[in-house]
Amino acid sequence: MEQLSNSNNNANKYLVNLVLDLPLDREFTYSCETQLTLGQRVLVEFINKQVVGFVWRSITELELDCSIDKIKPVINIYPEVIPSDVLQLIKFTAKYYHYPIGQVFFTAVPSLLRKPIFIHLDTEKYIKLIRRDHEVFKKRMGLKQQELYSKLQDSILSYTQIKEILGITYKKLIEKWLSIGVIGYCEGNISTLIPKISNKLPLNTEQCDVVNQISQNLAKFSPAVLYGITGSGKTEVYLELIENVILLGKQVLVLVPEINLTPQLLDRFKRRFNNMPMHILTSNVSEKERVTGYIEASLHTKQIIIGTRMAVFTPFKNLGLIIVDEEHDSSFKQNEGLRYNARDLAVYRANYFNIPIILGSATPSLETLYNYKLKRYALYKLTGRAVAGAVLPEIKLLDLNTIPANNGLTDNVVKAIQSRFINKELSLIYINRRGYAPVISCYECGWVSSCKNCSSNMVYHNKEARLKCHHCGLSYKLPSVCPKCGSKYIQAIGQGTQKIEETLAQIFPEARVLRIDQDTTNSKLAWDNLYAKVHNNEVDILIGTQMLTKGHDFHNLTLVVGLNLDSGLYSYDFRATEFLFTQLMQVSGRAGRGLKKGEVLLQTHYPRHELYQYLIKHDFAGFANFLLKERKGLTLPPYTFYVLIRASSNSLDTTMAFLTQVHELLIKNSDNSTIIYHPVASVMQRLKNKERGQILLSNNKRKELHDYLAMVLPLIEKLKHKSDILWHVDIDPTDM
Ligand code: ADP
Ligand code: ZN
Ligand code: ZN
Repeated sequence: MEQLSNSNNNANKYLVNLVLDLPLDREFTYSCETQLTLGQRVLVEFINKQVVGFVWRSITELELDCSIDKIKPVINIYPEVIPSDVLQLIKFTAKYYHYPIGQVFFTAVPSLLRKPIFIHLDTEKYIKLIRRDHEVFKKRMGLKQQELYSKLQDSILSYTQIKEILGITYKKLIEKWLSIGVIGYCEGNISTLIPKISNKLPLNTEQCDVVNQISQNLAKFSPAVLYGITGSGKTEVYLELIENVILLGKQVLVLVPEINLTPQLLDRFKRRFNNMPMHILTSNVSEKERVTGYIEASLHTKQIIIGTRMAVFTPFKNLGLIIVDEEHDSSFKQNEGLRYNARDLAVYRANYFNIPIILGSATPSLETLYNYKLKRYALYKLTGRAVAGAVLPEIKLLDLNTIPANNGLTDNVVKAIQSRFINKELSLIYINRRGYAPVISCYECGWVSSCKNCSSNMVYHNKEARLKCHHCGLSYKLPSVCPKCGSKYIQAIGQGTQKIEETLAQIFPEARVLRIDQDTTNSKLAWDNLYAKVHNNEVDILIGTQMLTKGHDFHNLTLVVGLNLDSGLYSYDFRATEFLFTQLMQVSGRAGRGLKKGEVLLQTHYPRHELYQYLIKHDFAGFANFLLKERKGLTLPPYTFYVLIRASSNSLDTTMAFLTQVHELLIKNSDNSTIIYHPVASVMQRLKNKERGQILLSNNKRKELHDYLAMVLPLIEKLKHKSDILWHVDIDPTDM
């Protein structure tokens, strides 16, 4: 054998299996003359196209099922290598979410790395002071130079930070100082950088206790829930823990819902750790910035990484702590493509690095609370508001069965807003429905403005006088007469943010009314501008959707009004009450964060519903226990695990025929443990012109459920079906 391979001119070829960006759960073999590292980015040819691949594993000739001569060579080797911590995460993700490995890989890495191009990176350079004596300077330094010099006395500075001090001519000065030997480059990892901490608040007793207890477990996997009421100072606790971890020379990952990643929050981080290299990852950062931060995190030239769900895939050289802020937030779950939950993957990563993870919230999810009940997670509480003298607002219910409402507003609400307006305080009107009216209807024939592509109504937007579908984007001009019978008596029914804005502007012609919803904030700049207006006290009445419920600290806000809430009480989705309660706790928590006591007024037709009864007592724990008991009784998650197989096509018959086929196959191969429900049409049956249906699977043993899926999914793959059928699996679905 040995001789054979010697005489073979393939002897110097290494074989590797690559992953490619394809919806196939397999690897692709290529050859290379040099040995490649696992995770290495390469260029190869695939069906006459040059594409990027990543080295997944190396194989031997014995594993080939064809001659080695048939194996195509790698065309180019790029310098980037995906580090092993991320490779492990990708492997786990593909297995847990039953998703093709190549597509997990290509979802997880920054988009620039997916393209067949060489990437030139401007990775950050760092400067340190070498000579501390003034002798070298021949002339007196200018003011800005003095500032730089004094900052360098106690910290290393990045090029970006130096540029911030000196302006665009910074490179010239750096060159000069380098040449006279005052400063030098700081090579490689910056874990020895001592944080220069500023803007620190003395913690209160509760905060101190929590920090001390969590700090005792920094060297091992220790998941902890930080359950602190709104305004209790959770962020301050995070900052303190982050400081402790940085002092150990380690990195920190902070995951935040998109709408919480406010300039306010980032400011707090930046001011607190003003010399720490930080990477902020939102959907706004450029491809280049994203890949730069990614590589720098893997080299440990970035110390703190703050980002939305995709940040969970960041590589780390030396991760020491993960924080998931507002862990209950639904935006941690991705609902297309790779349907992963970043919070759950974060727990996996903490386990992998053997480090603590903190799941913080004023309203932890039932899944997380259940993990605490099972003693898998520790629980720490913050029970009082952090600002001395600040108290929780009083929550009052306004019974719409007995109190009349005009244009959606009761007299009580109008009076409450008026008294705030007189006192120059801010009111917030929460209504989770954008647009003017949720539907237009004909008075004579009953026609309603439904969308032709979706099972939903077209929403009337009065500024443009158009009807819009919020699901598929279809939009057309408001007809002047009923499209069905020609009557001119067509009317807007119900209220959205625009209608309430109009009504309030009529009642309070002098007040400055501001509406914040998706329609007014579609650019980041617009959002920042509106936000600045509120903070500069240029607003008296703020109207908004759930965009306003979280993350904001409006000091002058003393009244919160909740409108149109009841639809969440009796919904087909078993999570709807949990969601509504959380929203209301959060939005109520915006009131009275300063020294003025807040008031919350909620208009409802069901004031006796348990949800409202717990809410007026601010009893989150009570309601959570009530819901957990209910879920247990009905064997719903978190007492069992769910998987949905969803399908869609151009006709409901096709969709249901396919799902019936799938159902038969599932039953035939049943593991006698997983419960297989009958195929049903989805509640939102028609969406973007597709007819949708689903099959629910459940099992209270997660492993059995996953083993069963691993067995049956390949069989479903092989089913013959009409070409317009699309289907996918959703593990631990959050929307039914
Ligand atoms: P949470 O994240 O729990 O909503 P924050 O950390 O944002 O709470 O704190 C709420 C408010 O209380 C902020 O204005 C913050 O500056 C203030 N705060 C937090 N901790 C303290 C403290 N120890 N002393 C004084 N003020 C504090
Ligand atoms: Zn009509
Ligand atoms: Zn539509």
